[in-house]
Amino acid sequence: MKITLSCIKADVGSIGGHTCPSKEMLNACESIVADAISRGVIIDGIVTYTGDDINLILSHERGPDNEEIHINLALKAFHEATRIAQQQGLYGAGQDILDDAPSGNVRGAGPAVAELTFEHDLDKEGTERAAESFLIFAADKCGPGAYNLPFYLSFADPMYCSGLLLVPKMHQGFRFTIIDMDESQHDSVIELDAPEDLYKIAALLRDNERFAIESITSRNYPEQIALNLSAQRLHNIAGTYTGKDDPIAIVRNQGIFPAPEEIMQAWTIGHFVAGGARGSHTMPIMPVPIGTPVTGPYCIPLVSALGFSMSQNGTFAHNKVDFFANPAWDYVRQKVQKKALLLRQQGWSGPAMLPYSELEYGGIKDIINDLQLKFHPRKQPQAAPYFSAPAPAKQ
Ligand code: MG
Ligand code: MG
Repeated sequence: MKITLSCIKADVGSIGGHTCPSKEMLNACESIVADAISRGVIIDGIVTYTGDDINLILSHERGPDNEEIHINLALKAFHEATRIAQQQGLYGAGQDILDDAPSGNVRGAGPAVAELTFEHDLDKEGTERAAESFLIFAADKCGPGAYNLPFYLSFADPMYCSGLLLVPKMHQGFRFTIIDMDESQHDSVIELDAPEDLYKIAALLRDNERFAIESITSRNYPEQIALNLSAQRLHNIAGTYTGKDDPIAIVRNQGIFPAPEEIMQAWTIGHFVAGGARGSHTMPIMPVPIGTPVTGPYCIPLVSALGFSMSQNGTFAHNKVDFFANPAWDYVRQKVQKKALLLRQQGWSGPAMLPYSELEYGGIKDIINDLQLKFHPRKQPQAAPYFSAPAPAKQ
């Protein structure tokens, strides 16, 4: 059977500021997902949250961009959660729903979408996927480019992924599809192969604001997609500030793909990303357990990682493992918080605040534009002549 995993994520309101959704909002989404399971629309599904974003993680046989999944399930759940958020007077009710009635699917309508389809038959003789395990990374208060460094290291650098050296099925490396998020008219992508194109991949991925990994595929098994992520930029689609496009990613692991521990290693860095308070600062990203609200100083960007295994018939949600809930990550969190405090000491100065092109609030541009009009050339003082002109000679 061909299984599609759909992860659809949106911030449609949260308690006491942009912290986390309410219990009632999550319950409403859960009952819509349960109803879809009982009607056979999807095989399985689970509702989680990371910061202020609700994540719907669904398995089904309907393929990507499917109307039943995107509109009749996900958008319906987000509309219902929005209604509750409005009733409860929560902050930012419905904020990620830019288009209430999109046609066909929710891409470009606000929610973040990661989707990935694969042939699923655990019993097939000689299958390269005798077990299907996968991770869902959901991040808040940052953009899709926040995933550039960790997934580059996990899939292209043997310093982080020893499987690239140790596992013959990984020796050929991986194909990266990278999207230019500044292109708002149509999707603009490039395929580059690791290891041959490593420098080119790095040259693009260093620019987290413009380029993002959209998907990664095994070169040994080109039909096997390892990773897909929601590399869309809402403010490029909407034309106005709408949020930091908090990204979600599906990462299949083990076997022909990196093992979870190799994927986790890069998240110990706590690398600096764009986001944080008002989506306008440079902050390190902190790995946190699922269901962590955003309550730290200056909204440190958060990332969660849930691991699942899929049964022969496509169910997965009955058991999950929360990777960043392990005590090893307490040490990383302390380190990341220290990095954040060090950078925050310099407030708005230099790289601590994002450049104008990336600021999500226009206020500072208004100040500068206003002051720009008042700048003026310095008036040169008239220097008194050192020698006064000689008096005219008497006739
Ligand atoms: Mg938000
Ligand atoms: Mg968010």
